[in-house]
Amino acid sequence: MLSMLVMMMMPSCNQELEDRMVAVKIYGHEGSMEKLFSEWTELGINTVFSGEDLISNEQFIDGAKENGITTFMIFPVFFNAEELARSPHLYAITSQGKIAIDEWVEFVCPSRVEYRKKMVEKAEWMVRKYHPDGISIDFIRHFVYWEKVYSDRDPATLPRTCFDSVCLNHFQWETGIKLPESLDGIPQQADWILENHSEIWTSWRCALITSMVKEIAEAVKEINPQILINVHLVPWAEKDFQGAIRSVAAQDIPALSEYTDYLSPMTYAHMVREEPPWIHSIVKDVYRQWEGKVIPSIQVDKAYLESELSTEEFEQSLIEALKPPSNGVVFWSWERVASDSKKKEIIRKYCDQ
Ligand SMILES: [Zn+2]
Repeated sequence: MLSMLVMMMMPSCNQELEDRMVAVKIYGHEGSMEKLFSEWTELGINTVFSGEDLISNEQFIDGAKENGITTFMIFPVFFNAEELARSPHLYAITSQGKIAIDEWVEFVCPSRVEYRKKMVEKAEWMVRKYHPDGISIDFIRHFVYWEKVYSDRDPATLPRTCFDSVCLNHFQWETGIKLPESLDGIPQQADWILENHSEIWTSWRCALITSMVKEIAEAVKEINPQILINVHLVPWAEKDFQGAIRSVAAQDIPALSEYTDYLSPMTYAHMVREEPPWIHSIVKDVYRQWEGKVIPSIQVDKAYLESELSTEEFEQSLIEALKPPSNGVVFWSWERVASDSKKKEIIRKYCDQ
């Protein structure tokens, strides 16, 4: 009886494992590609996320395909340092009337029609040229340096954008809300909107992000109807920081999911001073809002903070990341795995199926 039960359960278990994504983010590689792919295969890695540097390398993309590795092209949208250096008038503007910049984090205003068009065309061009299996849409949100936002952060201190004249004009035009003429300057205008029309403002800002995903997804699907779409999410549960995933980052999970095959919260627990079980809690929260494929990205080594990310903590993080309803895991980044044989062993232990 028991063996029959086990046999009946086997196919679905295998199915789940076959369907499970085990991915690495990689930003560059020197040395043999063949060796790289054989190592990935040996560790159970079946998917890669990489930027233009590697995706444009024929040896890389062809080799990945030959080895059965699914390729996603990381495509940053509103983070664009080069473009902002050339065209500073594109900067998003905060509620204090300042440009949206915090250390390396700087954002383009998401209302600029020409910029949006240019990004859609860039995605089309890259998909036509490099033939990735998927596109992984990154920095698809409003400005916030979430990597340094810890659980004790007062939500009122999180940045709110974008209050430049383009956004303010579009907002008024599209919602019919009229800013009183008596308001003097951006800080007063921002306060008035946030005090009087906060929910309409949030929905309008989320729609700017969702529509950008829709435009990119539809454009690349015209070229390859099978192309996979992933979106990188800020790792906040729906109610964290008083709903900041919508009111600050402007990522509306149910709306975004209409255009995606995967959602990938960047659950870098160590970085934001959380324990490994937090990873699973974020996956569950995303899944609650969208019963689709959620693939948490986890960090392999320390970042921003000085404290070490031990092998034990990495193992616990991986265990938490793989718990259902997760559909797999993304390691950030391969460069960090490559230099750490103990962490490689952990990956092999849980992912080589
Ligand atoms: Zn704007």
